[in-house]
Amino acid sequence: MKAINFKLIMISLIFSFTGMSQEVSDDSKQKGHLNTNKFRQMYQEFSSPNMFRTAAGAPGPAYYQQQADYKINIELDDQNKRIYGDEIVTYTNNSPDNLEYLWVQLDQNVRKKDSPSLDKDGDGAAPYYLPSGFTNKFINKPFDGGFNVEYVKNVNGKPLDFFINQTMMRIDMSTSLKSGESFSFSIKWWYNIQDHVNQDGRSGYESFKSDGNRSYIIAQFFPRMAVYNEIEGWQNYQFWGDGEFALPFGNYDVKITVPSDHILDATGKLQNRKEVFSKNMIKRFNKAKKSFDKPVMIVTQAEAELAEKGFSKEKKTWHFIAENVRDFAFASSRKFIWDMMAVKVGDKDVMAVSMYPKEGNPLWEDYSTVVVAETLKTYSDYTFDYPYHKAISVHAAQIGMEYPMICFNFGRPNIDGSYSDQVKYGMIGVIIHEVGHNFFPMIVNNDERQWAWMDEGINTFVQYLTEQKLGKDKPEIIFPLRGISLQKRKSKRYS
Ligand SMILES: [Zn+2]
Repeated sequence: MKAINFKLIMISLIFSFTGMSQEVSDDSKQKGHLNTNKFRQMYQEFSSPNMFRTAAGAPGPAYYQQQADYKINIELDDQNKRIYGDEIVTYTNNSPDNLEYLWVQLDQNVRKKDSPSLDKDGDGAAPYYLPSGFTNKFINKPFDGGFNVEYVKNVNGKPLDFFINQTMMRIDMSTSLKSGESFSFSIKWWYNIQDHVNQDGRSGYESFKSDGNRSYIIAQFFPRMAVYNEIEGWQNYQFWGDGEFALPFGNYDVKITVPSDHILDATGKLQNRKEVFSKNMIKRFNKAKKSFDKPVMIVTQAEAELAEKGFSKEKKTWHFIAENVRDFAFASSRKFIWDMMAVKVGDKDVMAVSMYPKEGNPLWEDYSTVVVAETLKTYSDYTFDYPYHKAISVHAAQIGMEYPMICFNFGRPNIDGSYSDQVKYGMIGVIIHEVGHNFFPMIVNNDERQWAWMDEGINTFVQYLTEQKLGKDKPEIIFPLRGISLQKRKSKRYS
């Protein structure tokens, strides 16, 4: 990119020196000076090879990645629909540069009352509004979202200077962070969780009027390090809601406290299964680890329906550790039915997992976990072996969104349990797509904020191959589809 910018600067300099800048402002004339041939050589589009990146595109001898490790404590306050959190971030500077400050992403701030994103509506004016939609958009007070940062401190408890610019926070260190060194700091925060069904977003809760419960799909819930690299230094583009994410890899140690009757799953390996599972659940889990042909229920629909009436005041803490991932997300509700089965990937057993409220059945217990398993097998055949120990598909109204090891997917039958082929195939398509995003961009990590086409393009292609294969091998699940899935165009929340 630097090479192109340099050329553009040179061209404009030449024009201004020769008094030509007026003449080339017209588009048609400008074409005469630029090579717009569709079959032109593309060298000028690529950055020059260097010590960091070779001409073949592979990492060069001086290639590096920064590392961001997190130790996080979270409490989900179901009654008040809030997340409380604190974290210690350890940032390791593997670059050859000394860093004067750090940039941290505060994605929740896209929902601050004064966020400029509220003024932006990419879809334009709707042709009509339902009364509830109109009230939400034009009459109700704006939602009071965004991070409330209580402190930013160094490891000795000394407050650090910080500056928040919308969804980005700059932390100033008292001395520069030298190449090869690490810096730890802590942040404490809380925020109001939004209703993702009525207020949109890539995470949030859904309320179920029939039983008074909520199901939570939670992401972007903690301040996350921005990416630093040799191409552009700090990548600190704002998050306006439509874009996705650019994140460095790191290790996560996360404790999540929720009502004791909630069922929860997340990125990472569960550390305290004996504390959070009943004896029955452990027995079923051990059975699921050996079940390669069909899912085993860990929490049945009858048990979930019983739990819906509980509203426990007790709390339970679920502890997860995830190594070398670029993000962390979780889902939690007392409404969740939970099933799992094992899949052979290379010489490893991986768990295919689904969590869904009863509103997803019978569709979800019939297809979700089976489709997760098929996706892991097919993607691993076409690309590389899935390296994580599990892949979770969580049912959420309207959303299709991906995180490491866990994704949120739409596809809900009618109240009487009936559903059309369109709903069924839409659900299967989105599960393949979002589980597929584990490969791109969760493992092959690209900057989605700027270059979303990279992971969306290759992922949609492998999704197509998977649908074709599944259509041939298991037509009872999905017929062979004729083209690349059009779901993305049908639903703006399919990411
Ligand atoms: Zn996608």
